[in-house]
Amino acid sequence: MMDRSADASGVLAGSDVGSQKERVVTEEEWLQKWEMGNIGFHKEQGHPLLQKYLHVLLNGRSGLRIFFPLCGKAVEMKWLADMGHSVVGVEVSEQALKEFFAEHSLPYCEEPVPGISGAKKLQSTSGNISLYCCSIYDLSSSIVGKFDGVWDRGALVAVNPCDRQRYVSLMITLMEKNSSYLLVTVSYDPNKHKDGPAHWGPMAGQVLPTVLCS
Ligand code: SAH
Repeated sequence: MMDRSADASGVLAGSDVGSQKERVVTEEEWLQKWEMGNIGFHKEQGHPLLQKYLHVLLNGRSGLRIFFPLCGKAVEMKWLADMGHSVVGVEVSEQALKEFFAEHSLPYCEEPVPGISGAKKLQSTSGNISLYCCSIYDLSSSIVGKFDGVWDRGALVAVNPCDRQRYVSLMITLMEKNSSYLLVTVSYDPNKHKDGPAHWGPMAGQVLPTVLCS
């Protein structure tokens, strides 16, 4: 399913496509973005496409385990938790996760993650929001379990092109059989950009996400 109702602000300029493919943003650079407050990707309002396609994510189910890859401090985590779902996120920036709990006035506790050295799990005291502070590539289903749903906004599109296959393979292992995957991505004219739809190409045909274009 494709939704093009949102604006096209995320569409890449043609000249960017070639260099974009080689571009690597390091974890250190992400941490710096958070430190400097260069977080234009963070939105204070819940994403309109999540509201619009919530029924697709839930598919009539309640009490889901929902995964937020590369979660930042996405406000939708609180929103879904308040609806009775259990939310798990992963994010390299501890600052982002602490800001999430602070901005929603949610008490939380921290604990190390067995099996991932240096990683921490920040969990709301109520227990329904667990945020892992580590690289997503450190996770596995034996550590975080499997999920009934995934909200992928600003995640696959933020993954370095050279890591896309690894990301997709991991996501597949984290999904329950009937899970729903909502992917917010960008779209552009393949006639103008012969590389094809690089931002979601690796997903196509593998997990059949619901692709929402913004
Ligand atoms: N999904 C969020 C944030 C998108 S920006 C939102 O909708 O607001 C991408 C986020 O991924 C940044 O916060 C960055 O710090 C984090 N990140 C980048 N590489 C990562 C990795 N390998 N593992 C976990 N988080 C990562």
